Amino acid sequence: MHIRYLQNLQTSTLFAILLLVFSNVAPGQTEPSDPDVIPFDNRTPTWSETIAAFERLSESSAYAEMIECGSSDVGRPLHAFVLSEQCTEKLTLEGLTNLRSDGRKRLGLLINNAIHPGEPCGVDASIAWLRGLVADSSALASVLSVMDIAVIPMYNVGGAMNRNCCTRTNQNGPEEYGFRGNARNLDLNRDFIKMDSRNAAAFSELFHAFRPNVLIDTHTTNGADYPYAMTLISTQPDKAGPVLGPFIREEIEPFLYASMEAKNQPMCPYVYSKGETPDEGIIGFLETPRYSTGYASLFGCIGFTAEAHMLKPFSQRVQATLDLIESVSAFMMDRSSDLHQVREEEFNRCQNASELAVRWTLDADRTIPLEFSGFEARREVSQVTGDIRLKYDQSKPWTRTIPFFNHYRVADVAEVPSFFVIPQAWSEVIQRLERNQVEMSRFSQDTTAFLKVMYVEGFRSTNLPYEGHHVNSLDSIRFATEPIQLYAGDYMISTDQPNIRYMMEVLDPRAHDSFFVWNFFDSAMQQKEHFSAYVFEETAAQMLSNSPVLQRDFESALQGDSALRANPKAQLNWLYKASKHFEGSVNRYPVYQSMR
Ligand SMILES: [Zn+2]
Repeated sequence: MHIRYLQNLQTSTLFAILLLVFSNVAPGQTEPSDPDVIPFDNRTPTWSETIAAFERLSESSAYAEMIECGSSDVGRPLHAFVLSEQCTEKLTLEGLTNLRSDGRKRLGLLINNAIHPGEPCGVDASIAWLRGLVADSSALASVLSVMDIAVIPMYNVGGAMNRNCCTRTNQNGPEEYGFRGNARNLDLNRDFIKMDSRNAAAFSELFHAFRPNVLIDTHTTNGADYPYAMTLISTQPDKAGPVLGPFIREEIEPFLYASMEAKNQPMCPYVYSKGETPDEGIIGFLETPRYSTGYASLFGCIGFTAEAHMLKPFSQRVQATLDLIESVSAFMMDRSSDLHQVREEEFNRCQNASELAVRWTLDADRTIPLEFSGFEARREVSQVTGDIRLKYDQSKPWTRTIPFFNHYRVADVAEVPSFFVIPQAWSEVIQRLERNQVEMSRFSQDTTAFLKVMYVEGFRSTNLPYEGHHVNSLDSIRFATEPIQLYAGDYMISTDQPNIRYMMEVLDPRAHDSFFVWNFFDSAMQQKEHFSAYVFEETAAQMLSNSPVLQRDFESALQGDSALRANPKAQLNWLYKASKHFEGSVNRYPVYQSMR
């Protein structure tokens, strides 16, 4: 007892000394210097300063409230700042669900900042925008009569705490910023479907309670050099579907590009170059549901990723981000009834669909002419490696038409069943479906049901983990109908419910970011029982002598397959697979469907 007491005392004393030594320098925990000043210089606030600035904003308006949406991975809360006519003091996440239940239709605009804390333009821009809005009561009243606003001050809280000067290697400021990886080194902008982080779980709660029509996720680029300070990734129109797609391509995008131009802030699509430089054209980015905007579009929300250019000074990037937020807001003000209508039409489309696309591929044959300004790309000898290197010459700007590859073709279509069945054993999948408000019922007793099943006939996994998973890519599947043993408590999921598109794109293994791709079903993809050849020899011989049909099939397999002829082990395995001993369920995907 005595010794343990001394050990405890030593530990706590040491802890106190460590606190004394580090408390004044712990990054991301400093007291705010002057949180009311967002100076548009080369600084960006720390997490504490940011939260203090948003708290002050919420105190300055009766229509504003800061809410906590649960915890982030680092243990600090994830905050959302809400601006709404219906804001009441002590608004909670649960209360957010009722925010727009007063019978009057209002849009929802959600802004997500610092998912990559090294790219913090949106933090400064959001504070500046909201300050301007809150200070102008008539402008505020007019905005809030059309929409509710929610802003996540800093999404990647753990990354924001891990502040440094330099990890954004090629970026022009600010002086200090947070780190890309979160508290468990996840890139949160790949985490919306697999939801490994508590941040993503909290985001989904906020997202479903607030039900935004439009999401803006703020970033800074990597990649090529060109004159634009702001580039834009919209929800890819073909992936968005026949209702939202044309509206994005023909209505929203032209408005946003013209609006930015009018502010002397020309903007271009995100520069994802086809070749090494933009000269040969750029490709429209397919933001699959692992990304924030791809996730949002599963629920009929139109997403914009603001990508400020890394080489422009930080203050210019903040201004460009602010300009884009204002342009998006102006579109929402102008076209609110159309936005309500397309959302409703998209909802109806998904509800009534007998099949839905789950995978898209670039149509390399179709291009859109894009007037683009670039810098001359030169090749010269590297002083470091002696090889030829790329250099952009900012003194030689050019403007010409380049091809924009932004048409995607549907690669896989899935039939929408009446219902899915998932055994309760797959609890991680069930938990994610619940978090995305998928309604499920449970079997009250054990039963056997004839269901449509899929067999995974070929797939590959990455050797190294990517974002915490050995990601799978599917080669082929085979459908069958089989009796499936189900147990009391297993889940039946009707597709006659709102979040059908989400369900299809996580449960169909062919979808880009399905739970199969993110390896939630890997244990179903392994054969559990095998045979000992020296024992099975007798069984196989008996099988062949008992069944002339098997004998004939075996001989024709041998004739048609020289590899099989040359491999005795493979021949035994062929017979094992044809025997009653082989487990029929190997590689059977454990999400079953009604036979429509
Ligand atoms: Zn980013």
